Amino acid sequence: MPEPLRLQGISASAGYAEGPLFDLDQAAVRYVRKASAADEKAALETAISIAAGRLAALIETSDGEASEILEFQLAMLEDDALTGPAFSHIAESTAADRAWRQALDAEIAGYETSDEDYFRARAADMRDIRDQVLRALTGGGDIAAPAGAIFYGEDIAPTRFLETDWSAGGGIALKAGSVASHVAMLARSRGVPMVVGLGPAGFGASPAHLAEIALLDAEHGGIVLAPSKAEIDAFRRSSSSFAAHRDKAAAYLTRPAATKTGIAVRVQVNIADPSDVDSIDVATCDGVGLMRTEFLFGKTLPDEETQYRAYRKVLEWAGDRPVTIRTVDAGGDKPVPGLTVEETNPFLGLRGIRLSLARPEVFRVQIRALLCAAVHGNLKVMFPMIAVPEEYERAATLFAEEQAGLSARGIEQRMPPLGIMVEVPSVAIAPEAFARAAFFSIGSNDLTQYVMAAARDNASVAHLNSVRHRAVLRLIASVAGFGREHNIPVSLCGDAGGDPASIPALLETGLRDLSVAPAQLAMAKAAIADVSI
Ligand code: PEP
Ligand code: MG
Repeated sequence: MPEPLRLQGISASAGYAEGPLFDLDQAAVRYVRKASAADEKAALETAISIAAGRLAALIETSDGEASEILEFQLAMLEDDALTGPAFSHIAESTAADRAWRQALDAEIAGYETSDEDYFRARAADMRDIRDQVLRALTGGGDIAAPAGAIFYGEDIAPTRFLETDWSAGGGIALKAGSVASHVAMLARSRGVPMVVGLGPAGFGASPAHLAEIALLDAEHGGIVLAPSKAEIDAFRRSSSSFAAHRDKAAAYLTRPAATKTGIAVRVQVNIADPSDVDSIDVATCDGVGLMRTEFLFGKTLPDEETQYRAYRKVLEWAGDRPVTIRTVDAGGDKPVPGLTVEETNPFLGLRGIRLSLARPEVFRVQIRALLCAAVHGNLKVMFPMIAVPEEYERAATLFAEEQAGLSARGIEQRMPPLGIMVEVPSVAIAPEAFARAAFFSIGSNDLTQYVMAAARDNASVAHLNSVRHRAVLRLIASVAGFGREHNIPVSLCGDAGGDPASIPALLETGLRDLSVAPAQLAMAKAAIADVSI
């Protein structure tokens, strides 16, 4: 039996799995070359239509996020711009499998080498499309994974994820991957444990390691191959306590959140797509603490009516509960075609409010949609990536101008309270410059990465990227204290708000208002109930 091998990555979906490893990167079946270029062309056409048919069938049985991913893949597969180069290679007498691989690999390389996390995340979809057609060409299916297996490899295809029966357990451990990938989103919403960023060296494991059972701790982002008996025992204890917490937490979902001593804590939800609210019972949360709007800005910039309908839907769902909509935070790890610019260091570049102020013609459309939607509920609006008070003032002036314009045209509208995200250290250090803001919402994801100089999507510095570092907590406490003294409401909408391990420290800073991912609501409320303040 080999020595245990411990690898560290980043948790993309919390949970535990113990089981055999299943190698995602194992070799595919060989393609048999055809007699003529015409036959090669026909073979590729057939393979593309088999893959398209398979996707269409999967779409029939999927909903929400899953069907959106599959529809994206189907649209790509039906796009001549993607398939055309492969047919050109065939015309130059390349075999269909090589032609397809060459064409797709060129496309994938563009995605993989992008500086932007968003595009790197989409590379998995492109690899998925490539492999589905290759499988159809060779007549080979996927080799079945044993029940409860931990899938490991470079990356995992979304269709592979969707075709797997996760009811028997199992998990995902990736050398590369991204917490922002489609599969990571699906894994979180279905509760499948997943770790990414284990690194290429990580799987320099010997075949003997791979033949052993593995322990995936996706609560802390690690995996142990060929574990010792003591490691298996400790793992099972952590895994049962995680499961017990999750079961116990379910009972807290429908109750208002409060600490052990009865101090009330507001718990709101973070959403992106307006359809996210369809699966949330409004009675289980105190409103929407963050609606990220950049996801409305897909391939094209959304017009005023599209935005208005999206905001109105969420406001009507929430009734009199507050809905905090953030103006577009494009840039950084969230590029928007037609809006963001290529930059060498996008996290420190033209993102968030900086970009909106640089493109007022785009910003004004969003502002009008927000002003008109405001009459349908309890809207609050906040600006992302504020660094200096002038940005807030300029954004507020644009709101006032658009309001005047709408009212001159007799269009019904209302001015919502305008607040700011606290995610740039300059604001957290000197909040007094922003006393005109109606509220503060701490973006701990960005605040932590900027305070610690450790990118939020880089596994090799994940140990530094901790909201519980005293420097970050001290800043949060000082912002919460400033808010109390000056009657400015302060909440926190970064991912740390839904992390049971960080909740005690966050409440200790004086915060009493958290906004969390819907899947974390119950666990967050249960963790709050455990805090003795
Ligand atoms: C944050 O930075 O904590 C935040 C909530 O914003 P985003 O994750 O969208 O950057
Ligand atoms: Mg942020």
